[in-house]
Amino acid sequence: MKLRLADPTGLCFGVRRAIEALEAALAEHGTVYALGSPIHNPQEVARLIGLGLVVVDDADEVPQGGVAFIRAHGVGPGAVERLQGRSAVIVDGTCPFVRRAQERASHLEAEGYQVFLVGDRDHPEVQGITARLGRSARVVGRSDEIGEIDDPGLRAGVLSQTTQKAEVFAGVVADLCLKVSELKVFNTICNATAERQNAVRQLARQVDGIIVIGGKNSANTRKLVEISRSQGAPTLWIEKSEELDWRWLEGKLQIGVAAGASTPDWLIKKLITTLAIPQVAKGEGN
Ligand code: SF4
Repeated sequence: MKLRLADPTGLCFGVRRAIEALEAALAEHGTVYALGSPIHNPQEVARLIGLGLVVVDDADEVPQGGVAFIRAHGVGPGAVERLQGRSAVIVDGTCPFVRRAQERASHLEAEGYQVFLVGDRDHPEVQGITARLGRSARVVGRSDEIGEIDDPGLRAGVLSQTTQKAEVFAGVVADLCLKVSELKVFNTICNATAERQNAVRQLARQVDGIIVIGGKNSANTRKLVEISRSQGAPTLWIEKSEELDWRWLEGKLQIGVAAGASTPDWLIKKLITTLAIPQVAKGEGN
């Protein structure tokens, strides 16, 4: 059986950078409080908890003088102020691409533009961006959510959640420019998600089946599974190598492996090592 790894796959730059910063903080301080789960992967979170991570929902749960970690999606300025009020040591894992989107949103507002943010209003990254805008930003998921604009002289500024699809963003930009007198556009999309999805799309056409490894709570991993299946490839979604179904592998000569952008390297390596061991050695009772 041949194995082929999607390329690129696994951790994106921003999540890898954030986890490395968190590991360094854990090594230095012993206990670190993360505002929200630092990564959508149960096995990696369990590993980090074993190193001293404590996941909290709110800045107010960080003890006075504690070490607080901000994940790659970032947070709003209110959370940072509350951490500072608790004299917390802040380890900021905000991805530079998310930081750039935050700064551009503030820049648009400071220049007097009505900000339109193309994204999911429930996503922490979107909430972190809108929380820093004094005037209300409009969050739109699709172009048909723009609605009527009463002021034909409106100066609008538009940017995107970093993981937004390019075609959705382009659709909002195209519709908005017909409704306002001035439109300033910042393309803040990060290509990491699209690159990983394209890699699975291509690989799915070249192999007999795809194993996608990643958290069942990871939206980007779920998307990889959907894309693989949409290409007609038999697709197995597992969180760890121990969940492998060896009967599923029977008769397949070429297997593709893909991982979500929140799947750590060690889980991928363990899966590849397990798959490289002859199947007969993994059978029950052998
Ligand atoms: S997907 Fe892009 S913007 Fe989001 S954390 Fe990864 S590198 Fe940063």
